[in-house]
Amino acid sequence: MKIAVIGTGYVGLVSGTCFAAWGNEVVCVDKNTQKINALELGVVPIYEPGLDELVERNVAAGRLSFTCNLANAVKGAAVVFIAVGTPPRAGHGDADLSFVYMAARELAPLIDDNAVVVVKSTVPVGTGDVVEKIIGSVRKAGTFSVASNPEFLREGVAIRDFMEPDRVVIGVEDEHARKVVTELYNAPLEVQMTPIVVTQRRTSELIKYAANAFLATKITFINELADLCEQVESNVSELALGMGLDKRIGTSFLNAGPGYGGSCFPKDTMALLRTAQDYGVAVRIVQETVTANEARKRRMALKVMDALGGEVDGLTIAVLGLTFKPDTDDMRDAPSVPLIETLQRFGARIRAYDPVGIENAQQILSDVELIEDPYECARGADAVVVITEWGDIRSLDLSRLKTIVRQPVLVDLRNAYEPGAAEKAGFRVSAIGRSTSA
Ligand code: NAD
Repeated sequence: MKIAVIGTGYVGLVSGTCFAAWGNEVVCVDKNTQKINALELGVVPIYEPGLDELVERNVAAGRLSFTCNLANAVKGAAVVFIAVGTPPRAGHGDADLSFVYMAARELAPLIDDNAVVVVKSTVPVGTGDVVEKIIGSVRKAGTFSVASNPEFLREGVAIRDFMEPDRVVIGVEDEHARKVVTELYNAPLEVQMTPIVVTQRRTSELIKYAANAFLATKITFINELADLCEQVESNVSELALGMGLDKRIGTSFLNAGPGYGGSCFPKDTMALLRTAQDYGVAVRIVQETVTANEARKRRMALKVMDALGGEVDGLTIAVLGLTFKPDTDDMRDAPSVPLIETLQRFGARIRAYDPVGIENAQQILSDVELIEDPYECARGADAVVVITEWGDIRSLDLSRLKTIVRQPVLVDLRNAYEPGAAEKAGFRVSAIGRSTSA
């Protein structure tokens, strides 16, 4: 099947490449000429483990190509995915749909008859109806379909998530779209017996927000329990295990930390609140989740200050890990940013290390010395703060680290080290959800 994918970001590029790996002919299109030029030269513009090789293999096989020319991309395509960004609208909190609507307007006169336009971007309920109207303003009804197929991949493990999903959700309003989009997934996923949930377009749109809001709530729940553990001398990791082994609960998303961030949870929870507000429905648990998470992110700076006796003015703090989670270069809404900015306001000097996020961090952070080696970053620091639990940060030689720092203070916001390990190396430790030695 020929497929066009509009938007070559974390979702569009991974989806397009995986569809090609499943044997389809895929053209990925983007307005960003830099991205397309890089891809044409074989350079993948994002960090996603395994993606370089998969792109290279599928380009070499002649199944995957890149272009800025939308007309060429959609010509002959049976399915056209819209995978453009839906960032939060500045000052409003709802999703900015201008990129989705722009893509719909641009593709409307160019698609073949009977093409199925599939919105893969995360969009509020009812967006598919608007996309249908936009396309319907230049094409006869019945000559095209609009479907919803939200994406659930996680950055860092995106290829596996796409190729071996827990489920696929497809929202359709007509039989042709149901047949075409179901077949696209069913053929490669049948052997894995992946459930395919086919539903109405509006339900499909809402499933994505419901899933993300639920996961954000789960994280916030364990974070609050972590605070309680700190007060009552309990250990949140063991608490999470004891809870999570109950199959009704599950162990994933029970890692206490500095608050959720990233390009999806903050914006999607806010957008769901907006939708609920618009329809006069109270979604109080999600509201509380958003409020608690924002407060938590700010409180993490106080935790660092507490570990240093209440003052950071003039002190040097080494931050290890900047991206919102390991194995991605994505800095969007990373908890490291408010933490660093708050510490800076209190007079701290910040040095920071990240294995792949430095380039993106440079565009967001100011007055931060970005260093490409974790030990060099920690040299002479008054405190080391772990914000992202990259593998190389987890496996640091803590005894060596201790000989480099000025003050042996470790604030481990990800519980990256076993209880006692950093203490044994001579650090005073403040971790999450367990009693502190700092
Ligand atoms: P992104 O910002 O990385 O990429 C979006 C791309 O779309 C950019 O390269 C941009 O240049 C391009 N674009 C915008 N308008 C265009 C147009 N009219 N024509 C061609 N290209 C255009 O975004 P992303 O992280 O891939 O997210 C895309 C969507 O998927 C969002 O709705 C997001 O919420 C959702 N999503 C993201 C993730 C994730 O982990 N990143 C996971 C699931 C769902």
